[in-house]
Amino acid sequence: DDIFARARTQKTQPVSFEMFPPKGELTLEQARDVAGELAALGPDFISVTYSAGGSGNAGATARIASMISHELDVPSVAHLTCVSLTHDDLAEKINELKRAGVENVLALRGDLPAGVDAAQAATGAFPFAKDLIPELVDAGFCVGAAAYPEGHIDCDDLARSVEHLKQKQDAGASFFVTQLFFDNEYFYRFRELADAAGISVPVTAGIMPFMSKQQISRMVFMCGASLPSPVIKLLARYENDPVSLRAAGIDYACRQLEDLASHGADGLHVYAMNRPEVARAAMSALRGAAA
Ligand code: FAD
Repeated sequence: DDIFARARTQKTQPVSFEMFPPKGELTLEQARDVAGELAALGPDFISVTYSAGGSGNAGATARIASMISHELDVPSVAHLTCVSLTHDDLAEKINELKRAGVENVLALRGDLPAGVDAAQAATGAFPFAKDLIPELVDAGFCVGAAAYPEGHIDCDDLARSVEHLKQKQDAGASFFVTQLFFDNEYFYRFRELADAAGISVPVTAGIMPFMSKQQISRMVFMCGASLPSPVIKLLARYENDPVSLRAAGIDYACRQLEDLASHGADGLHVYAMNRPEVARAAMSALRGAAA
């Protein structure tokens, strides 16, 4: 069964959450609690991010993903990045995921390490996500990949971004999760382009609520998402009122999700940032919208 099987059977729109595994201050115990609270909301799947470059948490993604599917009984998706992997590293990663009983993987290139440019990255064993996907498919995983409604930050031409998406589908990706966006119109236009390019697998829309001006500036500079004027107005209005700003951010994300649901998006993915209250608000907005 794939991660959308339950939604297909129940004829509901798949809703999923994303969390990060233990790192820095976040202990394994805290990550387990977050996973438990997210799982209790009944999502179709929970995806667990991957940080390249060690930072003392080797295997954390596989461990949490395994716990989500085997102990909490919710399908999980483990992210994996390939930009600096050798063939041997990948074989080791695949073993680790297999040993943990992980079945679904989101195949990503990952952000380029500091000091490495695209040309250098292209000489690696797996320069792009499309090069990682077949290896994971061959190893028996159900494989998803990333989609960019406004184009990837390093790619100025949206049509090229859509071509790259098609390459990932051709390489064996069986679902996509999008980068965050704050204006649904970009998603709808992108869906039309993707349809025209022959994208036939589900494209799940990724939504992240803004929590602070700092967080949002970091995100938009990292991924190139547009900030529409309603968001800028809210950021300005609540500049000195962090509590109201958070509430406005969650509310804005819920309105986006409701609109996507009513437009029949293939799935709705909430970047919950290990904050169960964000996932809870999203779930009740969507359940409310469905009622
Ligand atoms: P690719 O699809 O490989 O694309 C990378 C760049 O190369 C793009 O500019 C693309 O246009 C270009 N390109 C692709 N194919 C070709 C080609 N054939 N020829 C020339 N150029 C090409 N990062 C993490 O480190 N950990 C995570 O857990 C993580 N989770 C994510 C989850 C989602 C849903 C998303 C949207 C992103 C996530 N990221 C994560 C960030 C991601 O790693 C970066 O956005 C990264 O820069 C691109 O990854 P990709 O898999 O989309 O790369």
